[in-house]
Amino acid sequence: MSSEEISHIVVIGGGQAGGYACKALRSEGYSGRLTVVADEPHDFYERPPLSKGVVTGGEPLPRLFSEESLAAMAIEWQRPKRATAIDRQAREVLLSDDQRLPYDRLLIATGSRPRLPVPEWGEIPGVMTLRSWEDAQRLKARLETSRRLGVIGGGWIGLEVASSARKLGLEVVVFERQQRLCERSVGAEVSTGLAELHHGHGVDLQLGCQQLALFEQTDGRVAIEADGNAFEPFDLVVVGTGVSFNLELAREAGLAIEQGIVVDAGGRTSDPYIFAAGDVAQHPQLGLCLQSWSYAQNQARVVAETMLGLEAHYDEPAWLWSDQHGVNIQILGVPRPGLQAVVRHEQQGPVFCYLDEASRLVQMVAFDQPRAIKLGKRWIATQRALEPAQLADPAFNLMTLR
Ligand code: NAP
Repeated sequence: MSSEEISHIVVIGGGQAGGYACKALRSEGYSGRLTVVADEPHDFYERPPLSKGVVTGGEPLPRLFSEESLAAMAIEWQRPKRATAIDRQAREVLLSDDQRLPYDRLLIATGSRPRLPVPEWGEIPGVMTLRSWEDAQRLKARLETSRRLGVIGGGWIGLEVASSARKLGLEVVVFERQQRLCERSVGAEVSTGLAELHHGHGVDLQLGCQQLALFEQTDGRVAIEADGNAFEPFDLVVVGTGVSFNLELAREAGLAIEQGIVVDAGGRTSDPYIFAAGDVAQHPQLGLCLQSWSYAQNQARVVAETMLGLEAHYDEPAWLWSDQHGVNIQILGVPRPGLQAVVRHEQQGPVFCYLDEASRLVQMVAFDQPRAIKLGKRWIATQRALEPAQLADPAFNLMTLR
């Protein structure tokens, strides 16, 4: 397929992946029609600030692009609207207003939505999730008038919201099902480090909660019972218990799906005219869906190039970061069960390295040490064998291993 045949590209999804794909399509020289179907009314924005500066400091909509660069992208917006089906035979996208949009290339960047473990919790006015700009505005307003916050889920959303709420002076209790925090994404030593950080900032962590029951009280507050233990009621409860990927369109269109949409390193799905990016696009090497800012941005850029017929491959390791209680936590790589961390204690904070049987870096988690992460990226790319004693010794200069 050559780029000459392409006169209309449709992108479903107005999030970070959709935005960076559009930007890359234009910077690679695509000058045909570019339509974005988005169910939010806003220009592309990024989500990381929503749980942090937007709720604590009233930061404005974190736009991905300036108004000028967005205007230069010449996007035909279909918003707020939903794509309701993909007709692969006709190569058309059906919209919620019954329009049919023909496409030469289609990008699915539909993202994910918060998942509630008990659907009825969604009917309690004092219970909310956080995903969109509107959610963040509502959370900000509710935090301003709350004294006590309950957080369900000790994952990334839960911990960031807990940190923001403490900054605003609220009492915070986090209820996590597992015995440790962020169990799916980091090793035990890191979970302990996170727990210490949160304890140190006055967060009450309730781990290993198997049975949670939420009740709305007559005064609007929310009572929580964890494994039969009643807690003082909460003015607000935020649920961060993971997401469901928005795979319905792809599934109904018959595309290959495992955890997410199966794509190759260029973002091609099982249909040669359809591509996928961001949360819904299963990582081509890791075989899982990464919900991270860096993946949404960099994988989408690669996909844009492939859509135009260029040779491009995405092969970056997982990388995400979080800011909690003033500490920047960066996570490089995905955990492998059974590995023990080599821990390096530096003045700024700890660095946790997980090595495989050949002493190569599998995962690194660094508290306030972005330079270590930069090194870790090189070590992963070059498959360098490392010496645990050197990694653990704060007197040893890691920069000599560049
Ligand atoms: P998450 O990071 O997957 O954490 C959800 C946590 O809630 C898990 O520890 C989970 O335990 C626990 N949980 C599940 N059901 C529960 C229940 N019924 N009661 C108590 N705990 C329960 O998901 P998230 O925090 O909701 O965040 C959503 C997505 O956005 C994630 O993929 C996350 O990576 C991403 N995100 C990233 C950042 C960042 O990069 N800084 C920030 C925010 C969000 P189980 O393991 O047992 O399910």
